[in-house]
Amino acid sequence: MDTKPTQAAGAPRESLEGDEADRDVIAICIVAAAIILFVGIGATVGPQVLDSLLGRGRAPDAALVDAFLLNIALIIFGWSRYRELSEEVSRRRQAEQQARLLAETDPMTGFLNRRSLDGSVERAIERAREDNQCVAMLMLDLDNFKQVNDTNGHQTGDELLRESARRIAEVAPPGAILARIGGDEFALAFPFSSDRLDLVERIASRLVDRIAQTTQCGPTLIDVTASVGIARSDLAKMGGKLKNDTQGLLEMADIAMYHAKRAGRNRYCWFEGSMADEIRFRFAMESGIRAGVPRGEFVPYYEQQIDLQTGELTGFEMLARWNSPEFGIVSPEIFIPIAEEIGTIADLSESVIAQALDDAREWDPSLTLAVNVSPVQLRDPWFAQKLLRLMTAKNFPPDRLEIEITESCLLENVAQVRALISSLKNQGITVSLDDFGTGYSSLAQLRSLPFDRIKIDRSFVSNVTESEDSAAIVHAIAMLGQGLRLPITAEGIENSEVLEHLRAYGPLKGQGFFYGRPCPAADISEMLRARGRVTGGDAAIEPRSAVAAEAKADEPALRHAAQ
Ligand code: GH3
Ligand code: MG
Repeated sequence: MDTKPTQAAGAPRESLEGDEADRDVIAICIVAAAIILFVGIGATVGPQVLDSLLGRGRAPDAALVDAFLLNIALIIFGWSRYRELSEEVSRRRQAEQQARLLAETDPMTGFLNRRSLDGSVERAIERAREDNQCVAMLMLDLDNFKQVNDTNGHQTGDELLRESARRIAEVAPPGAILARIGGDEFALAFPFSSDRLDLVERIASRLVDRIAQTTQCGPTLIDVTASVGIARSDLAKMGGKLKNDTQGLLEMADIAMYHAKRAGRNRYCWFEGSMADEIRFRFAMESGIRAGVPRGEFVPYYEQQIDLQTGELTGFEMLARWNSPEFGIVSPEIFIPIAEEIGTIADLSESVIAQALDDAREWDPSLTLAVNVSPVQLRDPWFAQKLLRLMTAKNFPPDRLEIEITESCLLENVAQVRALISSLKNQGITVSLDDFGTGYSSLAQLRSLPFDRIKIDRSFVSNVTESEDSAAIVHAIAMLGQGLRLPITAEGIENSEVLEHLRAYGPLKGQGFFYGRPCPAADISEMLRARGRVTGGDAAIEPRSAVAAEAKADEPALRHAAQ
């Protein structure tokens, strides 16, 4: 395994070694001089001492004997100094090695770290080129690892990272470069013959399988999967605007890994040229969303909700739109999943709800405001408190707010949803079950969860006059609502035939393009003002912000985009 550390602290190390060498030389010179003196003086004093002891001559000169003894002391002192210095040098060398190791390896796994990976891969590419081979770079990222941390704590997360590293090392071919390059991201690089892609694939497949095996972390059993992206050094220039092969290789593997995630995770994926543009678009969307939230680019649009019997307007459902300077008006089907994935959904949603509360406060108090919450927000145990704080800050009455929870959320965490619904209802907020019929909620769940309303999904309503199946489903849901005494809203009413059909079921609410496309706040204010259904004076219906003013200026374009 090429995990040998390269020199990490070059310049300081050289000067330190220079100092040590100087001091070594001085100590050695002292010892050498003392030895020469010893020999010189000893040659005179030695025979004199011997003659005097044998009674053949007089005693040696006292000063010469003193010099001789001093000389011996100097040799002993010089030698011990030399020994001390040698020991110090070796101690420093060890400390330095340790420091270099720390600088170049990841302490948790013992793998190389991100910083030292580049150099190792560069050398591996050069060696492979000389051997007519190329380097395979496998980038591995654990799937949904944040959840492991959230559910089991960071310590268990750390243990899982260590175990993943052990498994990667186990599967890696001998001599492979192993690195941990981020939180749950690992790299594995090794040379291979360019006609043996099958060998690389075998390793990638074994990696995916091995990581997916259950891990015992203390008393807890954890199942986690990994996504792997593979790139090969002979195609390294395909990555795009890259400075060198190593960077190209890493970027390509990263793109391929990202692709594996999007294709469903728990798999490996080779880099292909077409991926680069796609992924760059996705990155641009991600950074656009991140920057767009604080800039107020996410704005509420409103769809009318109508009492089908009387035709009277009862309120609006707020639907977010992204007014992006780069991409134009973007629909929530595109940006919500991305915002959920990159963790900005809570901020985004809070910002749009805050704007909607400002808008709706100016409407007639009999009009309700319905807002959707994402499954990610439902997982936040503080969601209800955050919402309440927002309503208090905006001085908005809770009984005018309706929260819509999609049926698919129930699949994930019924207990959490039940707790959330209860706390929202305690505050006086109404809660409805959205997109009913598309998820898998059981009748028992429906009865046990205290929803105030069911919304029939548009996919059944819009073709209720054409499809017998849809008509049967709408009929069944309407009967269910009657039986459980849950009021019903039908989404997706697109023409008068559908409206007539639904009216047969008694007092339903409805919404859909038949009553108009979703509109920005300024249009709604104008419409309500014309009908005399606004509160407050003129100030109340002024565009709320620069974004709203812009939205008004762009009205035709926006209306088109909303369709
Ligand atoms: P994805 O499937 O898209 O990869 O999502 P993910 O949840 O795995 O999240 P992502 O890979 O984007 O982020 C990795 C997370 O790992 C972020 C951070 O919370 C966590 N993390 C980073 N470093 C450490 C660490 O040293 N120990 C632990 N326990 N967690 C870490
Ligand atoms: Mg991950």
